[in-house]
Amino acid sequence: MSSTSPRPSTGWSRRELIASAAAIAGGAALLADLSAQDNPAANVADRGSDLAIKSLRGFRVGTKAYLKVETNKGITGWGEITGLDPKVAIALAESLFELLNGENPTRIEHLWQKLYRSHRDMRRGPFMTHVIAAIDVALWDITGKAWGVPVYRLLGGPTRDKLRLYPHAKAHKTGTGGPHPYSGNPDEVQRLVDMVKQTRERVGKDGTVMFDAHCAVPPAMLIQLAAAIEPYNLLFIEEPAVPGNIEVFKRLKEQIRIPLATGERDRTIWGMLPYLHERCIDILQPDCAHTGGISQMKKIATLAEAYFVPLAPHCTCSELGLTASLHASFAVPFLLVHEAYLDGHLMPPGVARKNWEVDAAGYASLPQGPGLGVEIDESQFDKVNADPKRQFKWPVPTLLDGAVRDY
Ligand SMILES: [Mg+2]
Repeated sequence: MSSTSPRPSTGWSRRELIASAAAIAGGAALLADLSAQDNPAANVADRGSDLAIKSLRGFRVGTKAYLKVETNKGITGWGEITGLDPKVAIALAESLFELLNGENPTRIEHLWQKLYRSHRDMRRGPFMTHVIAAIDVALWDITGKAWGVPVYRLLGGPTRDKLRLYPHAKAHKTGTGGPHPYSGNPDEVQRLVDMVKQTRERVGKDGTVMFDAHCAVPPAMLIQLAAAIEPYNLLFIEEPAVPGNIEVFKRLKEQIRIPLATGERDRTIWGMLPYLHERCIDILQPDCAHTGGISQMKKIATLAEAYFVPLAPHCTCSELGLTASLHASFAVPFLLVHEAYLDGHLMPPGVARKNWEVDAAGYASLPQGPGLGVEIDESQFDKVNADPKRQFKWPVPTLLDGAVRDY
């Protein structure tokens, strides 16, 4: 604007401006009085500002890896890596410490981005994302402990008083449990139909039945099977196909009337988006430990909410990773049911001690903090690792003829 241009009128005269400034000054004095007496916000200190990460250590605990992140103020956070040979997981996590050393652990989103985008060629890979997920969970644990609140308080607070879990007497998932041959002969289809029928009888009319196709039933056979199990009123068919070609999911969605669920093998918002965008999934099943931790779970839930797609989170973690997923899930408004195994097959009881209960109806109570509220007993790690049944082995899924298949 040139100096000769007329000034835009503010509609305020000079006298009014002076009067207004005096009023603001008076208001500031009033606020100062309030701060000293009644304003609780005035007493809030930024307890996270001088925190710094000083170490990261990984431990093999059976088939899982636990990460321990320590800070300069004595606050420690824990996270769990699953699905990956623990010695590989630990080596990668400890290598990534180079990017975390001295950083403020409460800058969780910033550190997630720093790790995820650290090497352009490794972005989105499952090895990286599973490890980042555990680090993310440990940072939320530290941040909750620093503020003295459960993690879900930092995520907007609980959206429900209790959260429905399965498996439970009234909610059960049956499935193929392994690679399935491509024959579709009547006996084979009937065997799977009978499994669903028996599950419905077991949980009753007021119970919930789910079928896990485990990416193992070929699409043509799954279409045939889905028509046969329609009378049993399933909540969903899980993993109808192997992720990778959205056209297969679209084809299945066109021909199957039972709701379809998937997501446990997909990672981050970018992995989930095609299912939502192409409208081929009714229920999304992110796994907190696969998909990038609590930070990504919340983002995925928001994305799904916009498409009216509820969550049914997948989880095969011990009580450490499971509790992290519950914190995220309690803060999600649109959620159906959560997978949880508390029978000790994933980890002996007492190694990671949760601070929540399951009621007779199969609902989890709110985890008690601060942080995750999970206590880790490091003295039990050696005992777990000595158990020959708790060694990591790469699976080799084969059919009867020796061919390798998805499972
Ligand atoms: Mg599954």
